[in-house]
Amino acid sequence: MPLAPWSIGVFTSIDAGLGVHLEVARELGIPSIQLHTPHASGRTPSAAEAFLKKLDRYGIELTCVFGGFDGESYADIPTVERTIGLVPTETRAARLKEMKEIADFARLLGCDVVGLHIGVVPHDTKSKDYADVVEVTRTLCDHAAKNEQAIHLETGQETADALLGFISDTQRSNLFINFDPANMILYGTGQPIEALRKVGKYVRSVHCKDATWSDQPGQTWGAEVPLGKGQVDIGLYLQTLKEIGYSGPLTIEREIPQEPDRQKAEIQHAVELLNSIKHSIGTRTS
Ligand code: MG
Repeated sequence: MPLAPWSIGVFTSIDAGLGVHLEVARELGIPSIQLHTPHASGRTPSAAEAFLKKLDRYGIELTCVFGGFDGESYADIPTVERTIGLVPTETRAARLKEMKEIADFARLLGCDVVGLHIGVVPHDTKSKDYADVVEVTRTLCDHAAKNEQAIHLETGQETADALLGFISDTQRSNLFINFDPANMILYGTGQPIEALRKVGKYVRSVHCKDATWSDQPGQTWGAEVPLGKGQVDIGLYLQTLKEIGYSGPLTIEREIPQEPDRQKAEIQHAVELLNSIKHSIGTRTS
């Protein structure tokens, strides 16, 4: 059954990544999920089949499979630059191969959206390194296209303008954006609402996450906080999603897996907050 506009979602994981377990989504009655990919050993046809059966039993829709790699670390901003995504040169070829395998696993799950943090794209758009990152992204998009999938780039590590330039340079019609407003604040890459308006035409999935600015934006992390407690302005965020014509799922992301009880309670509160904002502004896009 197709999801209703602005269906609530939650970011989940099986054995890797920071999402909640699928059971939390079920207990909270959340109708859709994004899934952080399991490790290679868990990406088998039988694992996919078992997971699909579970989704079916729970009545939950999978909307996006997120890629991720061993060796990635979000410890601080310089570490992100060194370790995340397809940008680090020494792991690029191996990770491209793995990302294709993740897309194939998503296809086994019947999922036509594959998300990832591509990494911190080199700022010098004339450099060979930048051209190489564009090329690896094209290769990934072409692989996904064969699976009839789109690639969604998670926002945060680039400014809106840099991201627009990168998408334009990549020249692939299945390359879109998973917009995360909190990441713009955490990384200090721009005001999230202004950024959303700029990149709106490419936004095909979103995270609902909140954060507060660092006192040294771009140098040190801001702080991730419960939805509604930070500086995103969630009411204005949804209003702006409506303005840009976004009607896909609202996927809550809360990355405190070390505190599962608090994580679940905060996600429940986030569901209530989103539902009350939805109720007050209406979900119909014009
Ligand atoms: Mg996110």
